[in-house]
Amino acid sequence: MLTSRSLLLAIISLTGHRRKHSSLSLLFFAPAMQYIWCMAINIEVTRDSSFCPGVDRAFKITEQMLFGGKARCYSIGPLIHNPEVVKRLSMLGLEVIDPDSEDLPDLAGMNVVIRSHGIDTATEKKLESLGAVLVDATCPTVKRAQEAASMLVELGYHPIVLGAASHPEVRSIVGRAGGPVTVLESLDEAKRWADEHRGEEIKIGVVCQTTISRDLLEEVMAVLEHDFKDITVMNTICESVARRQEEANELAGNVDLMIVAGGRNSSNTAHLAQRCAEECVNTRLIEDPSEIESDWLVGVSSVGVTGGASTPDWLIQETVEKLFELEQEREKKTQG
Ligand code: SF4
Repeated sequence: MLTSRSLLLAIISLTGHRRKHSSLSLLFFAPAMQYIWCMAINIEVTRDSSFCPGVDRAFKITEQMLFGGKARCYSIGPLIHNPEVVKRLSMLGLEVIDPDSEDLPDLAGMNVVIRSHGIDTATEKKLESLGAVLVDATCPTVKRAQEAASMLVELGYHPIVLGAASHPEVRSIVGRAGGPVTVLESLDEAKRWADEHRGEEIKIGVVCQTTISRDLLEEVMAVLEHDFKDITVMNTICESVARRQEEANELAGNVDLMIVAGGRNSSNTAHLAQRCAEECVNTRLIEDPSEIESDWLVGVSSVGVTGGASTPDWLIQETVEKLFELEQEREKKTQG
């Protein structure tokens, strides 16, 4: 006979499969089971709630590298912006290095994985000169943005990268462009830049950090097009991120509580939570399901769950499981 826990895991696992095809309503999916009768809340998980294709690819490449027999492997910065995943990979033998550190380990003959954000040319050359064997897990979509910036430089355009200057992906785009690049992080920065350069004969080529919103691109373009004639846009926004955001916004607008699971150091998770909060004021960003408090469910009849591009599937499953457990406890208290 199924125990409560195994039944729940079965439901989650089935719906996880279904999630690949459509968004799901977790508790409506299962045929009449005991949990449906006792649950007073509906839990819905967005279809895109865990690793995006680029992160998934980097994770699998790294796993293969770790299981390939080398005693020690390295990643340039944390492989994924999620502390729990980094901890688990470290237990398998992955060490994080900072290529700018003066205190690098001996990398001769060592596998060093380039994470999905990519790296700049100077760092690549430095690591190669130290004898590292580079394992390239740069996301193909990020590569497209890197190549777009470099092509614009070759064609005589001044590339403007829309994104966060300190983000590793933007640094990799800038560092592979092969010429001067301007990074603009916000609409205000774009307005200031346009004020400073108004009247200059500049051929501008816009490239996007893959995770920025379409809204930001449109707003910045409106500003630039007003003041400059020769502008070309390379829309390198990642479709996967855009779709995830749209699904999450839609769900957030229809639930009483929206939970966004993911690393607090992940900018795309933070942005996802920020946008969900615009649709549902009761939006919570959690890094670990243990952070969910029973009080959050008071007066709540529907809960939405989503996660950032670096959120592992197991974190989403554990989040749903935790919600389920809390709701069961609440039911018991009500009945007792
Ligand atoms: S968010 Fe998009 S661009 Fe970034 S790693 Fe994932 S798939 Fe690649």
